[in-house]
Amino acid sequence: MTVPRGTKKTRNGEPMESPQFLIVDGTLVTLGSANQVIHDAFVAVESGKIRAFGDSRAVPADCREWPTLSAKGKVILPGFINAHTHLYSTFARGMSVHDPMTSFGEILERLWWRLDQTLTTDDIHYSALIALADCLRKGITTLFDHHSSPRCPRSSLDSIAEAFRKMSLRGCLCFEVTDRHGPEAALHGIEENRRFLEALNSKGGQEDLLTGMMGLHASFTLGPETLSLAIEAARQYAVGVHIHVAEGPEDVRDCEEKYGKTVVERLLHAGALGPRSILAHCVNISPSDIGILSDTGASVVLNPQSNMNNAVGRAPAHELLSRGVKVGLGSDGFNSGLARELQTLSLVTKHSLGDPRGISFDRLYQIAFANNAAIARRFFRHSVGEIAEGAPADLIFINYDPPTPLSTSNFMGHFLFGMAEGQVDTVFVGGKKLLQGGKLLHIDEEAMTRKSRELAGRLWDRF
Ligand SMILES: [Zn+2]
Repeated sequence: MTVPRGTKKTRNGEPMESPQFLIVDGTLVTLGSANQVIHDAFVAVESGKIRAFGDSRAVPADCREWPTLSAKGKVILPGFINAHTHLYSTFARGMSVHDPMTSFGEILERLWWRLDQTLTTDDIHYSALIALADCLRKGITTLFDHHSSPRCPRSSLDSIAEAFRKMSLRGCLCFEVTDRHGPEAALHGIEENRRFLEALNSKGGQEDLLTGMMGLHASFTLGPETLSLAIEAARQYAVGVHIHVAEGPEDVRDCEEKYGKTVVERLLHAGALGPRSILAHCVNISPSDIGILSDTGASVVLNPQSNMNNAVGRAPAHELLSRGVKVGLGSDGFNSGLARELQTLSLVTKHSLGDPRGISFDRLYQIAFANNAAIARRFFRHSVGEIAEGAPADLIFINYDPPTPLSTSNFMGHFLFGMAEGQVDTVFVGGKKLLQGGKLLHIDEEAMTRKSRELAGRLWDRF
């Protein structure tokens, strides 16, 4: 690629962003609601946005002299979206948990609710940096994080926001409100969301890369007063809630015993459901709950790998989609990528139904690509998740030279059985090149990883 004068350089001296450039030679997959596969395609990028795209014989005359970048042997896609994750889970990798964990409740109590109490501001920042680096390597450019650090609430969202800015990814952040540590800690949690949302409000509701929501843990750790105060604050900032719903049997039982309702009914009556709410999991929900979700327009985000890992079951994806619920896909911190999550959703559906038809390619596409993009558009002012004129140039190149014919109609077969295993070679966010040859261009990854190991070791000593 020719380097125009004044172009920002990466740590290796490579061009990181140019005001205008052309991507040529690759196979383009636009994703979005009307997916197109274009062989020997071009993408013209100008000022961080997609100016034009199409067949390489149709490059607009005024773009032909722009610096070019070849994507030969690669598939060009929009950056993927992870609609529910926990960056703070990074330091659990390789950590020993001595007490046995025989149920979902014990996994929470003995692992996650102990880990989140040991986090310092530095831990939060480095957990986020490492997880975001992983996201870039897996082609994720936009994610919805759900953060918990009850002993370190104040400004924890700023530490995460700073990590997003350093890594140049797009994020929708929230702090997990819970009554697990008493009413005062719950109020601190609401305050942290409020403080972060207030700062965003002073910038017009969102920054270029960042936006926010009201984070709630789950019905079974939220009393009526805290739930009501949190929803009131969410309403004040015109954001929705991001909450775990009926993930394990504990949440369902607790709600029935205390309130005589399902979790979805309780959230409906509390005023928590609407198009800007995200409900993660929804494993143990009823047909009437599905009707409520459909009527209110709330999004449901599936996390099949995490659900299998916690042995809690499988969300009723078919039933949700059939009733018109906006069903998306996240990783719940299990790992960063989307491809393996989608493969797992396909396999677990076949396996648990005892039916090799499982979930169709069309529905898998709808969940991971069309719906994740639609959910993101409810929160970000940019039209992420598809290659379209005027959309931000959040683009990834996957090393994949299709060995069999690839077309719009068979894209999902290639994705699940080929592209999903291909290395993400290059990533742009807003036209800025962040990854090339599978390597991060803008971060000293070795130093970052060394610091992360040091902090994680100290956290393990405190755990
Ligand atoms: Zn979660």
